[in-house]
Amino acid sequence: MTDWPRLFHFERDLHIPEIDLWLDSKRVKPFGFVSHAHTDHLARHKKILCTPPTAEFVQQRIKPTHYQPVEFGQELSVGDYKISLHPAGHILGSAQIKIQKNGISLLYTGDFRLHPSRTVEPFEYVQADVLIMETTFGQARYRMPSREEVEDRLIDRCKTLLAKNKTPIIFAYSLGKGQEALKILTDAQIPVAVEEQIARYVPTYEKFGVTFGHYELFDRNDLRGKALLLPVNYRFHRFYKMLSFGYTIYLSGWGMEPNAHRRFGVNEVIPLSDHADYHQLLELADALKPQEIYCTHGFPQFVEELRAAGHNARTLEEASPLQHDL
Ligand SMILES: [Zn+2]
Repeated sequence: MTDWPRLFHFERDLHIPEIDLWLDSKRVKPFGFVSHAHTDHLARHKKILCTPPTAEFVQQRIKPTHYQPVEFGQELSVGDYKISLHPAGHILGSAQIKIQKNGISLLYTGDFRLHPSRTVEPFEYVQADVLIMETTFGQARYRMPSREEVEDRLIDRCKTLLAKNKTPIIFAYSLGKGQEALKILTDAQIPVAVEEQIARYVPTYEKFGVTFGHYELFDRNDLRGKALLLPVNYRFHRFYKMLSFGYTIYLSGWGMEPNAHRRFGVNEVIPLSDHADYHQLLELADALKPQEIYCTHGFPQFVEELRAAGHNARTLEEASPLQHDL
């Protein structure tokens, strides 16, 4: 074990004690970094550090009062620390944070995805001494098909259904996956109607340079001849499940699981994922070769796989503050 300065502390939440900065805490803090605007990563902190797109989404979701928007690559000084944000490839505005002090650097990825998608800034590889990485899909069975394959499957399914006068009913997370699906469908000129909970974020995407083809707003009285793009909670409405001309599709990386369609209560799960799969998790560790890796949000066994691949890895829960004192 190397002697690291006390850069971080973990007890339920990640914390940089000397500057009292909390990373992705779901509890309200005086100063919090929000890696992206999914609700499991944010709270109404007194002051929020995030990228400009995340600031807009957070404003639409929880209306906090004070932001510190930071552009990708911009270096910020906080006390003796230097902080910079870098694209995480997860949803628009999603950021990794690099924190440096006295030449020692820490990188926290937040949710990330290495390979390009249509609506997200491409992931940036950032060197650091200590890497804290999200490992949601850290099991060998989670190897996703290529993005092209997944997109083709969605497009082909929609075209085939519409040709048979059936309605594709697509459930997606209202922020991130919803706009990605909208872009895939409208780029393929598939007629689509979008529910308000997804459509409300589209202007922010457009403001930051993402363009969409033609779409209309969802109208419950007009359900034929187009794909319907609905938030995930709609899949519990019997109305949509029971439509004689409907075919329900859920978009999730968990579609790699056998029988995922039963678990999600739909006809089909298409594995459109905004997280790194198993292969990408290993790819990141191998590309960065940090001196220490801490894993969070995933399968603890993945740590063993990183060790077998020659990395000095442990779970975040195993991080002891004492190990981080000089
Ligand atoms: Zn997320």
